[in-house]
Amino acid sequence: MIERIGKISLMPQILIAFVLAVLAGIIFGPHMDVVQPLGDLFLRLIQFIIVPLIVSSLITGVASTGSMETLGRIGGKTILYYVSTTFVAVSIGLIASALFTPGKGVDMSTSRDVPEATETDGVISVLLNIIPTNPIESLSSGNILQIIFFSIFIGIGITMVGQKADPVYRFFDGFAEIMYKITWVIMKLIPIGVFGLLAPIIGEYGMSVLMPLIKLISVVAVACIIHAFFTYSIAVKAFAKMNPLTFFKGIAPASLVAFSTQSSSGTLPVTIKSSEDNLGVSKKISSFILPLGATINMDGTSLYLSVAALFTAQAYGVELSFAQIMLIVLIGTLGSIGAAGVPGAGLVMLTLVLTTLNLPLEAIALIAGVDRFMDMFRTAVNITGDASGAVVINATERHLDDYTSPDNEAG
Ligand code: ASP
Repeated sequence: MIERIGKISLMPQILIAFVLAVLAGIIFGPHMDVVQPLGDLFLRLIQFIIVPLIVSSLITGVASTGSMETLGRIGGKTILYYVSTTFVAVSIGLIASALFTPGKGVDMSTSRDVPEATETDGVISVLLNIIPTNPIESLSSGNILQIIFFSIFIGIGITMVGQKADPVYRFFDGFAEIMYKITWVIMKLIPIGVFGLLAPIIGEYGMSVLMPLIKLISVVAVACIIHAFFTYSIAVKAFAKMNPLTFFKGIAPASLVAFSTQSSSGTLPVTIKSSEDNLGVSKKISSFILPLGATINMDGTSLYLSVAALFTAQAYGVELSFAQIMLIVLIGTLGSIGAAGVPGAGLVMLTLVLTTLNLPLEAIALIAGVDRFMDMFRTAVNITGDASGAVVINATERHLDDYTSPDNEAG
């Protein structure tokens, strides 16, 4: 029997766990508290991978840019483009959740203490605090913003030093692979985690917490689609003079693979191939920008993080100040940069966002059950955003390369 369950793929397993948790919660009510340790086990597992995952994947992502000259020129443009589109994505996510309030009606505030949202000391000191005075302390205390900061700098340092730093690069590259594998193993436990986290919640709050999740998924999906069609159409048209339809048609194979695998890294070979074959991106540009993008550019993930953060605040009746909304923009952007291109990485990052805002981590229990659905949309957007960056940078560099727009070719 257990062997047979093991053979069912993860997605149906999660759905079964979700349905079982709902049924068990309804039938046994507050008694379902007994399975809480299973949920806590899962929560602790995803919390324990955050720091090593971010350090290794970010250092490798930044260092894989190659020589300093390349890093300087193309890197500058790439980062500017990626950060700008991510910023637009977070904003679309915030606006969509403010308009459609997916968390309203999920009344988690009645039977538990309403948590106080963190008082922030203003944007300037939050920004200054990103710079660690002692990186080892940041690692041990798990200060993610500081960890992201020095990981980026170590990546830049590796690129500046060159050959001598190669062993360090290879170490982190191997370490990142190990972390992806561990993440993959932990993802197998999602069904147990979903059951252990969800059943006690349903038992305590009843079915009323579930229906608004349909709204959450829809808000993420619609906001992802709007971002993809609006932002990338404008970008490829304005900077590369490419017909947006040519772009979406060309990248479609990769978007579909991303939707099915929920992994930017897993889709990378298809993203590179589609960009080169269908969108006329040169090899030099695609091999540099796309692997970097798969690691640091995740528009869909940042959008999801902002929607999920507002969802949680709305569900727990927490009023967020303007400074805290700005903090969501900042952490949503940085969190998506730090997220690995593997299934469920965004959910791991959500822990960081909620912790920073002092919002209850229990919300993860609700969201985890339906996270896969949102992962499909956000991963498809993630790689489409990477490819739009490759098309744009390729066009701006075209005097250095043998660039031909597929539109011109066709016409
Ligand atoms: N699955 C996403 C990706 O690979 C990351 C995430 O979970 O948001 O791009």
